[in-house]
Amino acid sequence: MDDCLFCRIARGEIPSNKLYEDDELLAFYDIAPQAPVHFLVIPKQHIESCGDVDAGNSAIVAKAFELIARLTRENGIKSFRVVSNCGEEAGQSVSHLHFHVLAGRSLAWPPG
Ligand code: AMP
Repeated sequence: MDDCLFCRIARGEIPSNKLYEDDELLAFYDIAPQAPVHFLVIPKQHIESCGDVDAGNSAIVAKAFELIARLTRENGIKSFRVVSNCGEEAGQSVSHLHFHVLAGRSLAWPPG
């Protein structure tokens, strides 16, 4: 998508503080961190949100979770939360599937 913020970050048109990149996935630190550790994992292909995952694109979601497990393990993060806001009421502000990875402090439940 030409004007999607995360597509533009994935293409390198907008800089990001990258943690990991391959042909299909990108992990980068959130610009407004909500915890001492807060990074995002996105597929480079444009998927609007969790509500648009289907049999045709779910393999990349599995890869994103493999990457989350790997990055947390390699960075010594033993306790963390993965969040994907889906839709405006749930707090989604960027319409490109992304997984927040939050760690480094106690995280309350239920979330706000
Ligand atoms: P959400 O509100 O769940 O859609 O998450 C979008 C996230 O993207 C927010 O936590 C923002 O702080 C983050 N964000 C927005 N623009 C950027 C950017 N240019 N670089 C890194 N993170 C960003």
